[in-house]
Amino acid sequence: MAEKLSSKAAIELEDKYGAHNYHPLAVVLSKGDGAKVWDVEGKEYFDFLSAYSAVNQGHCHPKIVDAMVEQAKTLTLTSRAFYSDALGVYEKFITEYFGYDKVLPMNTGAEGDETALKLCRRWAYDKKGIETDKAKIIVCADNFHGRTITVISMSTDPESKTGFGPYTPGFVVIPYNDLDALGKELEDPNVAGFLVEPIQGEAGVVVPHEGYLRKAFGMCKEKNVLFIADEVQTGIARTGKLLACDHEGVRPDVLILGKALSGGVYPVSAVLADDEVMLTIKPGQHGSTFGGNPVAAKVAIAALEVVKEEDLAARAQKMGELFRSEIEKIDSEMIELVRGKGLLNAVVIRPKNGKTAMDVCIKMAENGLLAKPTHDHIIRFAPPLVISEEQLMEAVAIIKETILSFE
Ligand code: PLP
Repeated sequence: MAEKLSSKAAIELEDKYGAHNYHPLAVVLSKGDGAKVWDVEGKEYFDFLSAYSAVNQGHCHPKIVDAMVEQAKTLTLTSRAFYSDALGVYEKFITEYFGYDKVLPMNTGAEGDETALKLCRRWAYDKKGIETDKAKIIVCADNFHGRTITVISMSTDPESKTGFGPYTPGFVVIPYNDLDALGKELEDPNVAGFLVEPIQGEAGVVVPHEGYLRKAFGMCKEKNVLFIADEVQTGIARTGKLLACDHEGVRPDVLILGKALSGGVYPVSAVLADDEVMLTIKPGQHGSTFGGNPVAAKVAIAALEVVKEEDLAARAQKMGELFRSEIEKIDSEMIELVRGKGLLNAVVIRPKNGKTAMDVCIKMAENGLLAKPTHDHIIRFAPPLVISEEQLMEAVAIIKETILSFE
């Protein structure tokens, strides 16, 4: 058997042989179970990032892993050049689960967004009657939809965007949570879609005011504009409902899912829409070698079944309320604000004695809880939704002890 790597050796390997496109905390993980992970030296941590909300069902959920292993032993990939006995069953399952006519399966969140943008443009030309190449899509400032060239063309974050031009045209940026700005842009008859995150996760768990999504949806409908929800991070029970849009009774025209659609065991994303939109893309016009492969199909069914069987939306709602109320009780000047929905939460940190959100995260890791800053001053707290009340209270004690140690 190969010798076990130390943390130091594993970090050195990544540093030497991997591109430097991430800045991880210096923790080397080798095992996960439920809400917990372990590093190579055997130290135990609560995972309060959940791989950016991909591991909603908990690490290595046995039902999802079994589905993957069993399918992997039988047939892994056919490509879409042929039918498989798994894809149609999955497509029926997921469209009934979310209530849409059709699904287009992809792998990553960014591909889901790209797919939605292409669908929106095709619908604009084929159905809405916008002149060729004139379609515009409204997006929000501080969005995060992934890392491809077109997706970063919509970004307002200099770190994601600068130095990668020229950019894809056809996007109009408005402030998030601003209905007046939306109303103004919707006056343009060339607008085909409005792409929005129901809560902006990467921006720091920015929750719009109540009624924003409902009103924005209504305004889009009035102007025959597609309401496209990117629920890659907010979807699959994370915010206390199956979809974050469910909090406002909104059914997006185009729904983008990823991350927890596989419970974090495999890259699976999906775009859901009704026939009027979905059937504008014809054979040969879009696809992916791995999209909708048999393993992905089986994994996604299992992952979505777990969400219902374990009532994860209700758990996220209840644990989220408990989490926010407990964190608000911590008496520290460093806590400027606690916000979130369900188990997608953030604490805005006021630096103290030169100590920032990153220092808090490093200290929390030492104390047995993993979280990462988003931007300089915000820490996202998003544990797997399977976390028990007892575990949550243990985690809160670690956060409290850590923050008070800076006083
Ligand atoms: N959309 C949203 C809202 C996200 O939060 C993310 C990732 O964080 C993405 C899209 C991109 O997903 P992926 O990293 O799987 O491409």
